[in-house]
Amino acid sequence: MNWAQLTDLLDPLGLRPVGALRPDNATPAPVIVPIAPNEPKFWQAFRNSPEFADGADHPMDRWSELVITDLAAQIGAEAYFPFTGPPYYPFFDWALATGRVHQSPIRLAVDHQAGLFVAFRGAIGLPHDIDAPEPTKHPCQDCDAPCATSCPIGAFDTGVYAADACTQHITSQAGTQCWQGGCLARRSCPLTRQTQRSAEHAQFHLRAFAKR
Ligand code: SF4
Ligand code: SF4
Repeated sequence: MNWAQLTDLLDPLGLRPVGALRPDNATPAPVIVPIAPNEPKFWQAFRNSPEFADGADHPMDRWSELVITDLAAQIGAEAYFPFTGPPYYPFFDWALATGRVHQSPIRLAVDHQAGLFVAFRGAIGLPHDIDAPEPTKHPCQDCDAPCATSCPIGAFDTGVYAADACTQHITSQAGTQCWQGGCLARRSCPLTRQTQRSAEHAQFHLRAFAKR
């Protein structure tokens, strides 16, 4: 299994391998590959799934678990998820350790492909090394950081995300822009704008967040 083969297997699912980390003894496999949505194919693949339509809770998590577990079994790998636990796997640290995902000024993950919309649907643990692409330059070094000033309620200002204040805002009349199009802070990032995440997809996440 090389990187191109893994990418080809994930592509029909609207998923992509982010990078690889060769973990220390605290991690569960010799090589870990976090898996991210690949827009716009991701939303279509999920939207066509039985889990999207069945009306039960956590449809995206259930779909992710199903398809990534199945793929991992096909290639002799293990599957891990950010939403199962405890114990919870340190997905944010894993992503940073690939060198292809970085911490933004608002402390959210950012990468060159999905900007501040980068997210992890799971990871696979490989028993062997893989020819993963090289680490990327930190994208925020050459940016004026509109993400740090675009939230209308300053939800990132203290360094700790003000989740309750965010929920209150997005479910009010004043929060229509966030509610309909997705988080303004995330969308202000020039890298986010290239991801082609649909408004419907953005709304899906905000509605799930508001219900938590
Ligand atoms: S969704 Fe809107 S209110 Fe919430 S953090 Fe993003 S910009 Fe701020
Ligand atoms: S807006 Fe600029 S500083 Fe903020 S995450 Fe995007 S690239 Fe980094």
